[in-house]
Amino acid sequence: MPELPEVETVRRILAEQLSGRRVTGVTVPTTTFYRRPPARALAGLEGSVFTGARRRGKYLLLDFAGGRELTAHLGMSGRLFIAASAEPSHKHERFRLDFGDASLRFVDPRRFGRVGCPLPDFGPEPLSTGFDAAALARAFKGRRAPVKALLLDQAVVAGVGNIYASEALYRAGVRPARAAKSLKADERRRLASAVTAVLAAGIAAGGSTLDDEAFLDPLGRPGRAHLALAVYGRRACPKGHPLLKTRRPLAGRTSLYCPVCQR
Ligand SMILES: [Zn+2]
Repeated sequence: MPELPEVETVRRILAEQLSGRRVTGVTVPTTTFYRRPPARALAGLEGSVFTGARRRGKYLLLDFAGGRELTAHLGMSGRLFIAASAEPSHKHERFRLDFGDASLRFVDPRRFGRVGCPLPDFGPEPLSTGFDAAALARAFKGRRAPVKALLLDQAVVAGVGNIYASEALYRAGVRPARAAKSLKADERRRLASAVTAVLAAGIAAGGSTLDDEAFLDPLGRPGRAHLALAVYGRRACPKGHPLLKTRRPLAGRTSLYCPVCQR
């Protein structure tokens, strides 16, 4: 599932490749996402000039001249590709924007992606000044929930998913199942800077490309961030200690941690 570094990678490439181009066609195939792009989100899009893209959490906001914006979420398995307009439709194409001889294809085998969707309420962006140890202190205060579940809560911090939450907790030396309120001030400080550091490293490496629904950027290139992962998908931590799985699932899935490096 694409997380913040993958979405940020997509954002940068779309802005780089398509800015200044005019939309010449909007196509919603009959078999589109489970939630069809609402007509009002697409009205008037044809003829507008794409001016750039922003990101909020794991959502993309495509900007068009005149202040119009179109939101997009990659869901579980979505990919945005830039392809020549003359190329035939992809098997799982769910949405398409044409820009003259180029086109943007939203391909999504599992159909959980969305276009023109409302944005949820987000907590601070982890790469902004609004996210720090003080923000974690406020979010964790009195909360018995596992610290990892709170990191995955978009209202606590926007855009962190399973991979990068596991990595940040390893770097901070904190076990994922710890009650959030039990973290000490220095652990919250380490965790806040670890979240920022793992996401920044993920972006610098062009995102993670793991498993069969592997992420590719809009030019079809895999990321390299998974090569540097310490615990996610590993058997031992970088120091060679065998990893353990949490006994109970946290936010729906078990989580790996190092019983030596993490407390
Ligand atoms: Zn270890």
